[in-house]
Amino acid sequence: PLPIQVVFYLQIVWGLVTFIITIICLQFFLWIAFNSEKLLTGQVVTDALTGLHNRYYITRQLKEIESTGKMNQYWAALIDIDNFKSINYTYGHNYGDYVLKTLADILRSECIDMKFCRWGGEEFLIIGKIGDDIMEQQRKLDILRLTVENYDFNYKGQHVELTITIGMTPFGNEGTALDWINLADKKLYLGKQTGKNKVVL
Ligand code: GH3
Ligand code: MG
Ligand code: MG
Repeated sequence: PLPIQVVFYLQIVWGLVTFIITIICLQFFLWIAFNSEKLLTGQVVTDALTGLHNRYYITRQLKEIESTGKMNQYWAALIDIDNFKSINYTYGHNYGDYVLKTLADILRSECIDMKFCRWGGEEFLIIGKIGDDIMEQQRKLDILRLTVENYDFNYKGQHVELTITIGMTPFGNEGTALDWINLADKKLYLGKQTGKNKVVL
């Protein structure tokens, strides 16, 4: 048998070791919980194919803009790829996916001071601030349109040229942001009806 003093100190050491192991385990589980939540939150607001924000995310942003009461400082634009069905049909769905991912990259590099998301299918929504002149914003979208027109889409050696049509509208203070996006959609439709590959304001 060990002397009573040694047993006493051993019990203290054992208590400390147990306490430290419990704290480490707790930290570890907290770390897992924190990272899982971060991952899930990211997935909820991100489009899986393009990595852009999704419609859910931008809808929340639009609600925030509505709540400021300064909607008329913003504009929205809807982008739709021209004749995209024929790309899928002619070159396959993977080619279509490549086009969507590449267009997302072009948006990232061209729309630096704007918010944008994959609105659905092959449609993208951009939200921007009007600033001094809406025409200046329209010119930026036209540069975006030209960039796409001149881009050499090349997937597995297969080259394709394509264009986009954009419907754009400034927001007014009355109604909801979605009402104004519907107006942008009508302008997009007008652009499609009148030859595509254009920005309609
Ligand atoms: P338009 O010029 O009038 O816009 O003609 P369009 O052929 O582009 O017609 P529309 O805009 O209706 O085409 C939508 C197509 O987008 C239909 C669908 O097959 C395709 N699409 C939607 N989501 C995806 C996707 O995630 N991947 C691929 N490859 N295609 C998609
Ligand atoms: Mg479409
Ligand atoms: Mg289309």
